[in-house]
Amino acid sequence: TSTTVPEAPEDPLFSVMVAFRNDSSEKKIDLSIGAYRDNQEKVWILPVVKKATATTAMSPDYNHEYLPIIGLARFIKAAQRVCLGNSSDVIKDNRITSLQTISGTGALHLGALFLSKFYRPDGSNNTPTVYMSSPTWSNHPQIFKLAGLPTATYRYFNASTRSLDFDGMLTDLAAAPPKSIILLHACAHNPTGIDPNPRQWEQIATIMAERHHFAFFDSAYQGFASGSLDRDAIALRLFASYGLEMCIAQSFAKNCGIYGQRVGCFHFITSPATEADTLETVTRIGSQLTALQRACISNPPAYGAHVVSLILNTPDLFEEWEEDLRVMSGRIMHMRQQLRIKLEALGTPGSWHHITEQIGMFSYTGLTTDQCLQMREMHIYMPLNGRISMAGLNLKNLDYFVKSMDRVVRE
Ligand code: PLP
Repeated sequence: TSTTVPEAPEDPLFSVMVAFRNDSSEKKIDLSIGAYRDNQEKVWILPVVKKATATTAMSPDYNHEYLPIIGLARFIKAAQRVCLGNSSDVIKDNRITSLQTISGTGALHLGALFLSKFYRPDGSNNTPTVYMSSPTWSNHPQIFKLAGLPTATYRYFNASTRSLDFDGMLTDLAAAPPKSIILLHACAHNPTGIDPNPRQWEQIATIMAERHHFAFFDSAYQGFASGSLDRDAIALRLFASYGLEMCIAQSFAKNCGIYGQRVGCFHFITSPATEADTLETVTRIGSQLTALQRACISNPPAYGAHVVSLILNTPDLFEEWEEDLRVMSGRIMHMRQQLRIKLEALGTPGSWHHITEQIGMFSYTGLTTDQCLQMREMHIYMPLNGRISMAGLNLKNLDYFVKSMDRVVRE
């Protein structure tokens, strides 16, 4: 095998990062990163995380025992309340089974494996297709394909208006075979930054219910997008209120700034319409998820889960977390406003309202591949699809970025 293994294609973001690192210019800007930076371009450790780690600090006496296969129970319970709300019927009715995972990516993997093995909606042996937005996070198709699930796309982004292709999306969801798996971004769609509005989510949920599709939510940015955990969970809670069978891959990487600790959760929610006994159903599903988790990772990592659990289960810390979320989302929104104001003030050709209409970590600027390459010559690093990480902009580099953007758009 060693002589026959072909080289895997490189992740496009990786080469952008390397080029940035090798650039010695003082002007250089990295807009490829998917992690929050403060106005000084620094990694921002959330003050609430500092407090929580002071309590859970790894002293020499830290207990390094395994967590149970499903993870830390009090973390999991609190994570359910974060995405579904404190008064959720799903939780009250015990229609949910959850496992702690290796962050959002691990939750997507576990869900993909489970569906690949057990979701047989038409009673045949055919594995159903997973429909994902075009475009989507580049890891999505890789994760689902690795689990053996065929993938397809539904329309999402209208390049000419730089907005949601809502009619295209609904048409494609209606045309997908009944009981298909539909991957949805709960909020702050990556890479476009464009989310359906609440009315549009209702229409999406209605079509999903009519077609008996299975909703697979990826929730990687709750609270980080709008600053409100509740507002960023409207799609999750709406779908749950429709009584749809669904699952959620939940990440605490971005909203706790705890990326490398790999803290996440996978939730499977059954429908109240399921005829079988609810408790028996979730127990059966939970047992299979546990068996899969055992074969994949045996036990999830402990430390980050203890930190996040402390934040979620301590009212004062929870409030402080919400404040930290407002700081991060507020700075990002301020950057969006400033970027748009400055481009409009320069009279940069084109319309720029999409910059402030988009939400979350990323913005699809609309710059072409050629324009992105020209930006690189000016020491500005972004993937060639024109997506920028808003967290890479700050009050120091914004003017230089705007001037450069103005120049490439006019050329
Ligand atoms: N889903 C989306 C849309 C993302 O953008 C990311 C991270 O960039 C993830 C999931 C997974 O992140 P993690 O595995 O770090 O939680």
